[in-house]
Amino acid sequence: AKQNGSSQYRFYDAQRDQSSIEQITLENDLEGSIARQEMQLYYQPKMDMRTGEMIGVEALLRWNHPQLGMVSPARFIPVAEKSGYIVPLELWVLRTAMSQVKQWETEGLSVVPVAVNISQVHLMKPTIFESIMDTITELQFDTDLLELEITESAMMYNEEHVIHILNDLRKAGIAVSMDDFGTGYSSLSYLQSLPIECLKIDRSFINKLTTDKDSRAIAEMIISMARQLNLSIVAEGVETEDQVGLLKEMNCFNAQGYFYSKPMPPEELAQQFAPPSRA
Ligand code: C2E
Ligand code: CA
Ligand code: CA
Ligand code: CA
Repeated sequence: AKQNGSSQYRFYDAQRDQSSIEQITLENDLEGSIARQEMQLYYQPKMDMRTGEMIGVEALLRWNHPQLGMVSPARFIPVAEKSGYIVPLELWVLRTAMSQVKQWETEGLSVVPVAVNISQVHLMKPTIFESIMDTITELQFDTDLLELEITESAMMYNEEHVIHILNDLRKAGIAVSMDDFGTGYSSLSYLQSLPIECLKIDRSFINKLTTDKDSRAIAEMIISMARQLNLSIVAEGVETEDQVGLLKEMNCFNAQGYFYSKPMPPEELAQQFAPPSRA
């Protein structure tokens, strides 16, 4: 009967209600979250697996929602992309990450470059280059200490526009990495035409590196291709010693992952830097 569904039906419906309420809450509350100081950056080290040295950090957004608690960026980034809030949000990320590096410098720490993620929606904005440069100028930031990460799929979206922006960024001395590499379908010729410095091998391949022959073959292929194209390479989501061993055998020496460190708040990360050198 219509007005009297099975308990299974009601259970399903209740769940869906719950998640759509949450979805609407996210949509309503995102705007203004920066001003309410609910956004935070965590930082995850990128490591040289041979020396154990930290060679860079990636800035990752965290939203501390007053009712929902910590909301994963995987959940709110799509919402921000849909509403357009992603643009002020990522400009806030850029500014905050660069200010943080400057502060570490002031504290005398030997800092490493910070990488910031740029979404496809933001990348397509005609003003993106200008707003990045404005922030850099305002903070008097050394562009050698800034990197941008753009996913392979975002780079596939409008190739002409992407090449144009990436050329501008390169001229300004800002390095770009292709994120989540291996999940899109970029052609070798497109890769060759892109002014980027680094490929980040997607976590899904690293995950299965020691258990799945295909993932291993793909990782191997990406690593040798990167070498041919003169690109550096970072393995994402490295969690075990076995993965570290195998990657080194495959001549991949840079990694990011829980094996080394989870993303952490800036106070905690500061302790990972080499102590200031004393004269
Ligand atoms: P991503 O750019 O691929 O960032 C790496 C994600 O993998 C992070 O998740 C990180 O915590 C996680 N991770 C690192 N090592 C490991 C590991 O060993 N094992 C596992 N299972 N996970 C690991 P997080 O911080 O939840 O971010 C998820 C995604 O949200 C990011 O993926 C990125 O796509 C997006 N994101 C975060 N901040 C921003 C931002 O400012 N702008 C944009 N557009 N996207 C962002
Ligand atoms: Ca990234
Ligand atoms: Ca540079
Ligand atoms: Ca990634």
